[in-house]
Amino acid sequence: MQKPQTEIWYHHPSHEVAERIESDPQRGLPLLEIARRADRYGRNELTQQVGETRLQIFLRQFRQPLVYILLVAVALTLVLREWADASVIFAVVMVNALIGFFQEAKALKAIDALSRAMDIEATVVRGGEVTRIQAVDLVPGDLVQLQSGDRVPADLRLIREKDLQIDESALTGESVPVEKSIDVLPRDTTLAERTNMAFSTTLVTYGTGVGFVIATGDRSEIGRINDLIASADVLETPLVRRINELSHMLLKVILVLAAVVALMIMLRGEPPVVVLLSAVALAVGAIPEGLPAVVTATLALGVSRLAKRRAIVRKLPAVETLGSTTVICSDKTGTLTQNQMTVREIFAGQQRYEVTGTGYDPDGEVRRPGGNVGQSESVELTSSEPLVEVLRAGMLCNDSRLAKTEDNGWRVEGDPTEASLLVSSAKAGLVRKEEQAARTRLDAVPFESQYQYMATLHRCEYGNTVYMKGSVESLLPRCTKVQGNDGLRMDDVKATVGQQVDSMTSQGLRVLAFAMKVMPAEQTSVNHEDLTNDMVFLGLQGMIDPPRPEAITAVRACQNAGIRVKMITGDHLGTATAIAQQLGLQGRLGVEEAKVAGLTGAMLAALTDRQLIDTVEDIAVFARVTPQQKLRLVEAMQACGHVVAMTGDGVNDAPALRQANIGVAMGITGTEVTKEAADMVLTDDNFASIEASVEEGRGIYDNLTKFIAWTLPTNLGEAGIILVAATLGWQMPITPLQILWVNMSTAVLLGATLAMEPKEPGIMSRPPRPADEPILSRALVWRTLWVGSLLVVATYAVFAFKKSLGVDMASARTAAVNVIVIGQAFYLLSCRSLRHSFFRVGLFSNLWLWMGIAAMVGLQLVFTYMPLMNRIFDTAPTTWRPWALAAASGLLLFVLVELEKLGKSFARKAA
Ligand code: ADP
Ligand code: MG
Repeated sequence: MQKPQTEIWYHHPSHEVAERIESDPQRGLPLLEIARRADRYGRNELTQQVGETRLQIFLRQFRQPLVYILLVAVALTLVLREWADASVIFAVVMVNALIGFFQEAKALKAIDALSRAMDIEATVVRGGEVTRIQAVDLVPGDLVQLQSGDRVPADLRLIREKDLQIDESALTGESVPVEKSIDVLPRDTTLAERTNMAFSTTLVTYGTGVGFVIATGDRSEIGRINDLIASADVLETPLVRRINELSHMLLKVILVLAAVVALMIMLRGEPPVVVLLSAVALAVGAIPEGLPAVVTATLALGVSRLAKRRAIVRKLPAVETLGSTTVICSDKTGTLTQNQMTVREIFAGQQRYEVTGTGYDPDGEVRRPGGNVGQSESVELTSSEPLVEVLRAGMLCNDSRLAKTEDNGWRVEGDPTEASLLVSSAKAGLVRKEEQAARTRLDAVPFESQYQYMATLHRCEYGNTVYMKGSVESLLPRCTKVQGNDGLRMDDVKATVGQQVDSMTSQGLRVLAFAMKVMPAEQTSVNHEDLTNDMVFLGLQGMIDPPRPEAITAVRACQNAGIRVKMITGDHLGTATAIAQQLGLQGRLGVEEAKVAGLTGAMLAALTDRQLIDTVEDIAVFARVTPQQKLRLVEAMQACGHVVAMTGDGVNDAPALRQANIGVAMGITGTEVTKEAADMVLTDDNFASIEASVEEGRGIYDNLTKFIAWTLPTNLGEAGIILVAATLGWQMPITPLQILWVNMSTAVLLGATLAMEPKEPGIMSRPPRPADEPILSRALVWRTLWVGSLLVVATYAVFAFKKSLGVDMASARTAAVNVIVIGQAFYLLSCRSLRHSFFRVGLFSNLWLWMGIAAMVGLQLVFTYMPLMNRIFDTAPTTWRPWALAAASGLLLFVLVELEKLGKSFARKAA
């Protein structure tokens, strides 16, 4: 074989391609060849491009206005030969940068790990067998099958295709999907016009195709221009941006204040070092430096918490939006239900049949029900030709496979709806291999949810036959005749069929209709146009798909939490409402009657936008909905002010997912196209995981507000102490250097531990947070003012008291520092919940917090009693009495905050 990359693949006719790549256009590569090629060409993956180096990330931490001020301070103190001051300020700068660096590295790592967790699979023909493999294991020469929704796993030269369209915007920037063909192209065709190629990482939006892998990994077109690295703004979320804005606003205010303070101290004739340090200390004390770092770290921590709940976050803002979700729109099949399909009832030849057995085990039979319960008799297959034809249609018009698992169970490869049809026909004694041999498949129209049917063309002895299956609504209008000898026409049986459908759907059965048509023998392909009329109706198969038990619980939890759950499905309205009933889905929340209101896509289409906006909130079930209508529903709900989470699995769901506030894709059954559009991917396709992630989202947001509620008052307290001394000309109870110390150590050891708080009790029994809730709420401003002031007062009180006892300045100041630190520690305990009492959140549910407090107390002991620290910070050992005073004032603060919460909770209850 020549080196694949030197070939101009699009220039060779497709029959030559197989020869040149040494593979087989039907059977793919022989199994023994694969390992050899894997050795030679390596794995099919792109070399990770290094983004910023660690050093660059570290250096970027210094690019903040605050740090500039501190660095200027370091320089000035050095000039003034104040070694201790210079080194402390420098240490502050370094600690600040290190924290930012580690938080950011941790966040990036969490996100990076998740992006790698999402492996891409490919369908490939090897040694004549169709299998699913990891895309990284593909080698040149592999014969890959594509279908709509797939991501192209490597560069392919297409050799067969049907209506194939590929979105190549990732490669060419052109957003209109390209129609593919297999025709030979001239040598000088540009990349965007190479229509007989499919390029790695582009997305199949329509149709199917088959092609040979001609380049893998870095040798693919995308590999050559690979600059697909984690972009730098990956950590930006709306909240982070708002917090950055808040910090910038605070910074400006603080700089002005610092200038004023500096001026006042200077006028009092203090030496320049004191002036400078006081101004710097005011600034450092007042600015909540930890804020952006803690916010990013909390969000990143949230990403891994969500991953544990089976939700992979693709876009970081989703973490904060989740908590304010007010509506969840969910698919039915597989998300609210188990996607464990079992055919229970069959209707054929004007006869109803029951099917016994469970799951995908072909152990069971097809029985003709008797008049009384338990009196059914099993049927001889040969006795009912229509029954055989329905089952045969289900078996042949089918792309799924059943494989035995190691523990003797059955595993579905493909669509469970189709797999259930294999099982029902096997129960009646049909053998798939024999059927396929007698009726070779020539062509197929794949299932697309907007058509709601699938058809296959087979070569039969009596002429080529199309078998078709799909929703009742899409099939029946195409049928004119009915299978059987009695010469019935479709119009004669319409009413009976309608009754059968109603009876099946009202039990929650998913109903498929089957039809066939004999085609001219020379016709070897089939298209939508061939299926519009003159079909022969064969019958129906009804399958159960029970609700997931955990979805029932999750629906209840959501409705308790003030979140509406809506089912949006392509299935029949009857089936959908029956399942909705079993799930306990309600229309407008709070309405007692459990009646679920449902709408079909057709009814939806008849509503104007205004009418839709007026009704959308009352309706819990939307059936036979097209993907375009999903988009309309999202928009209508957003127009009602809702924050909408929407699930999707098919290619055409992508626009709705993008429009939704949280687009949720299915990890197992979802297409790559929807995953690409989604904010979040569920690894288990389970509705319960959406509920769990909303719960986590609320917890994460809570923790952010807790940190903000802790940091703002403590920063105000620290700054207030200096401000008071400067304006009133009092002695400083804390030196600037000491403020720097307190500020850094408490932010890390105390405040940051709030990010580790577990979820509060009752987190899912309160209404959703308004999405436009400001960070600085009135309650928070008020809290900041009074707690900050109390810290200032307590500090001055203890300082004054110590001085009145005649102790030296150093120990009076040390006592004052301890008041602040201990006050902050007590306040931290209260901040563990902004609504519940400290005792309700569980004393030891956050051990990090207790370890942080213990470490902080340890550090204060060192700060107070260690001679080296005494020298650096001008501190002095104190007796036990100031500690007791500090603890007492901390306790007082704690009690007051707890009382404030208690008062508010009474007010909430009264309201
Ligand atoms: P949902 O997943 O919400 O049930 P789909 O869009 O997958 O909706 O399916 C819509 C309808 O199309 C189903 O109710 C069924 O009648 C029909 N259908 C589903 N899967 C297939 C299939 N593989 N072949 C033919 N028809 C199908
Ligand atoms: Mg489906």
